[in-house]
Amino acid sequence: TGRVAGKKVFITGAAGGLGSAMARALVAEGAVVSLADINHGGVQDLAAEINLGFGEGNAFAFPLDVTKEDQWIYALEEADVAMGGISVLINNAGISRGGDIEQLTLDDWKLVMSVNVDSVFLGTKHALRYMRQNQPGSIINVSSIAGLIAAHNSPAYNASKAAVWLLSKGIALHCAKQGLDIRSNSIHPTFIDTPILDPIRQQFGKAEAEAKLARQIPIGRIGDPSDIANAVLYLASDESRFMTGAELKLDGGISA
Ligand code: NAD
Repeated sequence: TGRVAGKKVFITGAAGGLGSAMARALVAEGAVVSLADINHGGVQDLAAEINLGFGEGNAFAFPLDVTKEDQWIYALEEADVAMGGISVLINNAGISRGGDIEQLTLDDWKLVMSVNVDSVFLGTKHALRYMRQNQPGSIINVSSIAGLIAAHNSPAYNASKAAVWLLSKGIALHCAKQGLDIRSNSIHPTFIDTPILDPIRQQFGKAEAEAKLARQIPIGRIGDPSDIANAVLYLASDESRFMTGAELKLDGGISA
């Protein structure tokens, strides 16, 4: 039982703040999860924690660098065997590199584009083979409010997340045209309390940094990982069955 009972979910960047919150929420609502991350120890620990709480076989961990096609092919095959299928793909792994357009290095630009965008292309390309055997399915692409609104010091992050936004819609159209019951949507969080905010916290100090960010958000606080996990539950479940090619802003009103 549960809102996502029987769903077999593959999550990238699952060792991180948002990915781990999504994983816990999905298992609590009846899903089985495959946790993939370049931080293999991180997802092994998380899988052990989830299996301790919910029983063996609820979570599996795989090493995966989302920029590497051969690693995707291997991890998806292993996850399909472990879970007995894949019905939901959450493209969540992502990184940020600061610096305005004159300061940013080409290496950092390429790294951000590769981790944030190549990942969605490669993961979707190879996961669809499994997902078409396990319909209905859902692909959830983690973009950002920064994929819709520019900031002065994050050209690579802005461009990469904007690419995820439109790529997600293209995937939705592809699946619909193929007659697949597989949906694709993007989510767009504002600042959420995870390690990705550590550089800002280091620059201004934790309290000052969080107050600075909260002042920009009409609701008056930064987001909690559970705010995002709740939206992911909806998109992974059949409750969102008529929603595809859409974007969900989870931003406390910052774009209103
Ligand atoms: P996080 O840093 O806590 O987690 C990111 C995870 O991705 C880490 O576990 C890291 O090991 C993993 N990762 C990095 N490079 C990888 C690679 N090459 N292959 C596989 N895994 C890799 O950050 P988070 O806040 O949980 O971020 C999750 C997603 O949410 C990202 O796409 C991020 O851009 C997006 N997002 C976050 C916020 C926020 O404020 N936290 C806001 C909007 C969007």
